[in-house]
Amino acid sequence: MGPERESHLGSAAEEVSQSLPGEQRVRIGRMDPTTGNPATLAIEGAPAEEGNYVARALSHAQAVKDALGFAAEQPPEFSPDPNVQRASSGARAVHLQQLYKGIPVYGAARTVRFRPDGAIVESVGSTVTVDEPRKVQPKVTVEEAVRRAAEHVANPDDDEWEQTDPFGQSLEPVGVDVSGFEPHVTAAFTDRPELPSVLEPGPFGAEIKANLIWFPLQQLTLAWEVLLTLGDYDSQYRVIVDAEGGEILLCKQLVKSVLGRGNVYRVHGGEDRQLVQFPIDLADHGLPIPDDLAVEFPDPWIEESSAVGNCVFAHLDDIGPTLDGILSEETVVFDPSDPVGDDQRILNIFFYNCVMHDYFYLLGFREREGNFQRDNLGRGGFASDRVDARSFGGEVRGTATMATPVDGRSPTMRMGFVSSTGRHTAFDSSVVFHEFMHGVTNRLVGGAMNVRALEDPQSSGMGEGWGDYVACTINNSTVVGDWVVDRPTGIRGFPYDSDFPDTFADLGTGRYVEEHSIGEIWCATLLEINRMIGPGLGVQLVVDALKLASANPSFLDMRDAVFAALESRLSSGQLTESEHGDALAGVWRAFARFGMGPGARSDGAFLSGIVADFTLPPGIEPLEE
Ligand SMILES: [Zn+2]
Repeated sequence: MGPERESHLGSAAEEVSQSLPGEQRVRIGRMDPTTGNPATLAIEGAPAEEGNYVARALSHAQAVKDALGFAAEQPPEFSPDPNVQRASSGARAVHLQQLYKGIPVYGAARTVRFRPDGAIVESVGSTVTVDEPRKVQPKVTVEEAVRRAAEHVANPDDDEWEQTDPFGQSLEPVGVDVSGFEPHVTAAFTDRPELPSVLEPGPFGAEIKANLIWFPLQQLTLAWEVLLTLGDYDSQYRVIVDAEGGEILLCKQLVKSVLGRGNVYRVHGGEDRQLVQFPIDLADHGLPIPDDLAVEFPDPWIEESSAVGNCVFAHLDDIGPTLDGILSEETVVFDPSDPVGDDQRILNIFFYNCVMHDYFYLLGFREREGNFQRDNLGRGGFASDRVDARSFGGEVRGTATMATPVDGRSPTMRMGFVSSTGRHTAFDSSVVFHEFMHGVTNRLVGGAMNVRALEDPQSSGMGEGWGDYVACTINNSTVVGDWVVDRPTGIRGFPYDSDFPDTFADLGTGRYVEEHSIGEIWCATLLEINRMIGPGLGVQLVVDALKLASANPSFLDMRDAVFAALESRLSSGQLTESEHGDALAGVWRAFARFGMGPGARSDGAFLSGIVADFTLPPGIEPLEE
């Protein structure tokens, strides 16, 4: 970097200042010798203004792009972190990742800082100049990049064998045998410019992730960023492989991201326990990963070293103790010696609640939507309401229950013992998931501050149905509570398969006056939707519809909310016309199968005036038998 660069940017800053409104001026502070661009750019005379920080940070960075060192033809592309950081002073910061053609530029990020009065005061960080347009044409495939990264990690350079930790103990690289390893892609998100891909683990300890990234050398170089995990999360490497020639550009061992590990029943107490990472990998939820998550998500499950975290406080009885784990290195390990004892019950409800927190976070039940967290991490909504999850040694009233007050107050989950089988509901995920879903629907339907939104008979029945639906969807099952009561049909009348016998026409008759039974018809319908359009889209529509519905909906109101949710995915471009058409037909077929065709009627959300309609709207054909 010569003085010419600095004086060039100085005059650019002068010109930018002329173009800024009012008395605003930008001035280059410190220069960054590695990029030849300003490390700090001070802003003087910006007006005080509350709110809108992310949008203002973005438009600021775009307005001063010439002074930041962007080339004339280079668009000022950034991806903002939606979480505005707030210092205790009220000063705020917005983080912007620099992109080029939609792909992140390695190491190029700026932070725009605001004074407590909301005026922009400076931007700090690094900017990478792209003088010559670059093409996004990787010559090396992702499989080839992963193969090269794997070989590099398997054969460390000599100096890596000599590293020691702060106590002087050897940090010998963990061995991995990559002979015969053929990388295989299991998921590729080709709609995103950085082409995020997931590959089979092969000899590694976890699935391999890779994406495109720009690596700033003499010129901006297109590269694959590969994340490799060795052993049982013993170590992780980020390897950057030139997408042109396949050379290793960077190999960096990452700090351990593992925070905890627990020996838990994943589905129910009739199976062997599994040692599971806390938090579990987002990909394990079986849902698409939305692109608007905070980079650090999933948030840690454990706060210190017990079954107490940001989304759940798990403990014994009403005010009994929680479970302490054993802290070894940086990992808290929970491994109760008695696989059916009190400790295991605490651990399992802790685990199931954390899983549900993350699952619904992916589906859009987050801080602003009134989810259950002690600390909302500056992301909106009311905090101080993690789930108070209680495991009882004996029976409790209702066997398993969830009471959910308004946002900002903790729901209480009470899980008890089933005497007839000697089994505990804390070990049956389908029961815990059902109860957790009561919390979700109570918060979402009619808004997080309305706790009287599921009162009418059809509404409260759907409250039960949604719980069963989520439990069956996550476990890919058609029954709920079958393990804990040791009965193939579980705790309901029939399995929720395509042969489920009753329909909307039966509401208000026979057993369909009781809320769990009413819920069975609703759950059977929703699971039919899953079978028609796939569980991923199905559960997303069901959760979106909860947000769109008004308080105390009827089955038909919720049917229409599902259609509204589906329509909005077309208008947002998340579904193509043809995907939308297929899903629309599938959803109508499911509703018509259960008597909720276009001509169905009822007296609001009550059980009177029920008129079923098993026909499809014009233009939608029944499926061939
Ligand atoms: Zn229930």
